[in-house]
Amino acid sequence: MKRVVVIGGGIGGLEVARALSEKDVPVTLVTEKDHYISGPSRPLILSNEQSLDRIIRGYNHLPENVEVIYGRAVEVDPEERKVVLTDGRSLAYDYVVISTGLRYDYSALSPEDKIYNVYDVGKLYDLKHLVWSIKSGSFVVYAPKQPYRCAPAPGETVMTIDMILRHRDVRDDVELYFVDANPKFQPPVIHDVWKSRFEEAGIEYVTGEEIVKVEKDGVVLSDGDKIRAEYKVILPPNKAVNLIKDREGFIEVRSPQDLRTKEYEDVFAVGDAAKLPYPKNSEVTSTSARIAASQILEDLGLGDKIELKYRFVGWAYAGNLEGKLATQSIKFELEFTPEGPKGSKDPEPKEEYTKQKDVWEQGVLKKLFGY
Ligand SMILES: Cc1cc2nc3c(=O)[nH]c(=O)nc-3n(C[C@H](O)[C@H](O)[C@H](O)COP(=O)(O)OP(=O)(O)OC[C@H]3O[C@@H](n4cnc5c(N)ncnc54)[C@H](O)[C@@H]3O)c2cc1C
Repeated sequence: MKRVVVIGGGIGGLEVARALSEKDVPVTLVTEKDHYISGPSRPLILSNEQSLDRIIRGYNHLPENVEVIYGRAVEVDPEERKVVLTDGRSLAYDYVVISTGLRYDYSALSPEDKIYNVYDVGKLYDLKHLVWSIKSGSFVVYAPKQPYRCAPAPGETVMTIDMILRHRDVRDDVELYFVDANPKFQPPVIHDVWKSRFEEAGIEYVTGEEIVKVEKDGVVLSDGDKIRAEYKVILPPNKAVNLIKDREGFIEVRSPQDLRTKEYEDVFAVGDAAKLPYPKNSEVTSTSARIAASQILEDLGLGDKIELKYRFVGWAYAGNLEGKLATQSIKFELEFTPEGPKGSKDPEPKEEYTKQKDVWEQGVLKKLFGY
């Protein structure tokens, strides 16, 4: 039997492992932590509308033929066809799938002060503490240039902060700035709705400027301007975790319908780590993972390669302007065509859409982690 190694126990890695295990292909899954925390509803941890124990999972309930090895991979050596781990172990493979996601490049911001965000869990809980305790102050919330993980998440963060401060009746004494390095709110299909939501909420909105430095008393923008703010809620630029020997940057694949890496037939990349012409999110990740799994199955004579459309249904948390801890969301859809993304949306934020997002996220976790 051929040896398939999957690196990364997140959305893409588990989707590949599950698809192969269903066809009785044993998989070795290498992942660095013994748990996974789902991303999409993390902003609602701030408002107590989500709790960590509903979105954290371990790896004990995967299919029997998925062997989990806990460890950090440091290199994929395509000549030797092996994966090397930090502890010196090495795993031989016939096929390897890299789904290691991405990392946040804090050093790009030369930070001289503390950074908060909803992406790293410690920073998320520190932000929660802050938003529930301060009585006055100023926040700057930042979305870096694309590509970054989950287009609306920085905007969701500022709207959730706004909602909590209203709920606590201190919103009038807190200034909120949102800096977006992109010319429009991401994804652009909801830009107009988002812009009017910011206006209604009294959030100062700066577009097309990067934050290049985080200082004690504020942030410096790429045009040299400075925004004075005490609290910096910042998603740093996103960098790929490229494990292929002597390579860096997002991993080049042959096409969105062929997830083999450009140079190596037996090395695949899926999800956020792969260089795909789409936003970085769970659905693009799952689609790429299912295609990659079908390519391996075809090689093994166990099925046909599939072609799938890349599309995305999203729900962006848009806070609640009445200060009720009941997040309303904007629902949007994107279909990625060769001519570019085609989008549609319901411009009316609704609580019902927040519930739909929860059902979707729980469904993804159940499918991949077993509960
Ligand atoms: C705050 C937040 C909000 C989000 N909101 C949404 C949303 O609303 N909708 C949506 O569709 N998507 C959303 N996403 C994005 C979505 O979670 C990602 O696109 C998706 O998880 C990418 O899957 P992946 O497999 O590429 O990476 P991940 O799911 O991040 O998995 C990567 C795994 O690899 C492991 N790993 C990394 N390096 C190594 C190594 N060297 N050795 C071993 N293991 C390693 C990591 O620990 C992790 O378990 C959000 C993400 C975050 C963080």
